[in-house]
Amino acid sequence: MKIVDVSVDSFVYKSRIARDSDGHAHPGPAVDATQTMLRITTDEGIEGYAFMVNADVVKNIVKPMLLGQDPYYREKIWHQLFERQRLHMGVLSDKVLCAVDLALWDLAGRALNLPVHKLIGATRDKARAYASTMCGDDLPGGLDTPEAYAKFALQCQARGYTAFKMHTWMPPIPGAPNPKRDAEACAAVREAVGPDMVLMLDAFHYYSREQALYLGRELEKLNFFWIEEPMPEHSISSYVWLTEQLTIPVVGPETAEGKMFTRAEWILRGASDISRGGVGDLGGLTPLIKTAHLCEAFGVRMEVHGNGVGNLHMLGAMNSTDTFYERGLLHPFLDYEQPQPWLNELVDPMDNEGFVHISQKPGLGMDINFDYIQANKIAK
Ligand code: MG
Repeated sequence: MKIVDVSVDSFVYKSRIARDSDGHAHPGPAVDATQTMLRITTDEGIEGYAFMVNADVVKNIVKPMLLGQDPYYREKIWHQLFERQRLHMGVLSDKVLCAVDLALWDLAGRALNLPVHKLIGATRDKARAYASTMCGDDLPGGLDTPEAYAKFALQCQARGYTAFKMHTWMPPIPGAPNPKRDAEACAAVREAVGPDMVLMLDAFHYYSREQALYLGRELEKLNFFWIEEPMPEHSISSYVWLTEQLTIPVVGPETAEGKMFTRAEWILRGASDISRGGVGDLGGLTPLIKTAHLCEAFGVRMEVHGNGVGNLHMLGAMNSTDTFYERGLLHPFLDYEQPQPWLNELVDPMDNEGFVHISQKPGLGMDINFDYIQANKIAK
């Protein structure tokens, strides 16, 4: 089988996500937004798909490289793209590597009539989810006060979630960042949901060592399960310092560049208790599998960052079967249970016990609404 075409469809959809000046998502009025679908086509007519990719990079760098290649040579193709990043750092991001890699996994699954987690080697068909909130805001009745977080945590508990992760207030929200207010919100949530719900915090990512230590100690009193990315991740020494002093597990790195290599260095330094990464951070499922196996070899728990099919299939093939799925981002004003307009069904349906079920359809399991994409396509 050979790759004969690589294309990107750009299309418009209505989004209710507004980004603040720091890039954080909040609810907003419905506005036109653009989505892109990568399509890799073979001479046998089998295709693979992934979303969110830069069309120009695909046309100029990815397509010329992929044409004529065997799509089953994912490992080779991933390394070719990785090596090209060195001189194309400004455009060939890990997100592009991720889209290409996911589309190739999707294609292989469709060709072999297997869901991707079974193609890797499955361990389970469902994963325990945590409700992952949007960042705090100043929207009345949104996530604007510690009490608002407590109320929303109760709603999530009633929906079936057994775990809840808070993203608290970050700039440019007035008054943020504030570790004391973060701790107050965590206390309000613990008080509301009771002792059994698993709780985590992912607060402002640029706190000082002292602020992060204060916050970690407050979370220890509240029996939180982990503290995530409270300081800049380029300072590995700061994370070593924090991890040595806290008993609550420190999770990271999440956004630090460097793929599985960075995770290996963090493990060697003892910079966190739980390692982390998702397909988007690492550059695809191929490097995420390497990272999961790296962590397994060191006896380090790994938590997968972010929602979506790539991360879900990784969870279905990890040996640590108590690892969580990050479902969200959630907000009281938004209905996460509706599929995105370009999909016919949710990729991460959750039952009433808080488990997300991994699709058994071939490939990544996305039921794509091609008619919708065609009808809303942006002309080139
Ligand atoms: Mg995070």
